[in-house]
Amino acid sequence: FKKLDLPPPSKDELYLLGNTFNTMIDILHQNFTKQQQFVSDASHELKTPLTVIEGYATMLKRWGMKEPDMLEEAVDAIYAEAVRMKTMTQQMLMLANPDEKSELALQEVDLVKLSEETSKWMKRTYEHPITVHVREEQVLVCVDEQKIKQLLVILLDNALTYSSKPIQIEIEQQQRAVKISVIDQGVGIPAEDLPHIFDRFYRVDKARARETGGTGLGLSIAKRIVDAHGGEINVLSEEGRGTTFMATLPKEVQISGVSQ
Ligand code: ADP
Repeated sequence: FKKLDLPPPSKDELYLLGNTFNTMIDILHQNFTKQQQFVSDASHELKTPLTVIEGYATMLKRWGMKEPDMLEEAVDAIYAEAVRMKTMTQQMLMLANPDEKSELALQEVDLVKLSEETSKWMKRTYEHPITVHVREEQVLVCVDEQKIKQLLVILLDNALTYSSKPIQIEIEQQQRAVKISVIDQGVGIPAEDLPHIFDRFYRVDKARARETGGTGLGLSIAKRIVDAHGGEINVLSEEGRGTTFMATLPKEVQISGVSQ
């Protein structure tokens, strides 16, 4: 303080400084623990497909050349696990970006057009029929188009995976926000799983999720996208009856106090 030619801090100021410092350390510690947990979960999740690949590769080395049936089974399994690992690493890279909010490329987007285009594209990827009803003619919002498309793809992809009945998208205008709902009449989510559904790597039924190629990261990415826009994502579900995911996005996204 002498060097800076400043008066020494008072007792109260020192106390306040100490408190601020402690809070900062707490936040850093919490973030560090979260990162550690993420790295440990990620390594665990990547180890499973690697073990399967290693197992089938060993089988191929020993007997593959002599047994054509085994060759086909092993190649299919290795391919499926490699695709899952690729998806998982791409999703982990998305979640590792700490600065999503400041990187939003905001522009005026018609949510109705975006929903129709995305569902048309999804219908081509999936073979089972889906119907998408959009009630409004045009709903303009200022959002990151690619990110909102990604959000719709995640929600539609889940709805299509866990339901064989028509899927519905509803868009509802509120005074200062827009609510997009993706509604399915599929298997539903048990009540005890609902509070964890947006957690990283969380899957209701691990065995079923493996069959469907799920990674347990889709909904945490969906939540991050909605959070970055200053919105909210919620779920309503009943086992055996279906699931509705609702994303509410503000019409004007606030970035560092400036509305865009
Ligand atoms: P995944 O890659 O496994 O789909 P998500 O994070 O997208 O990961 O979803 C987490 C889990 O939530 C899924 O494994 C599934 O058990 C459940 N889930 C998500 N959406 C639905 C839905 N529409 N119907 C039923 N269960 C769902």
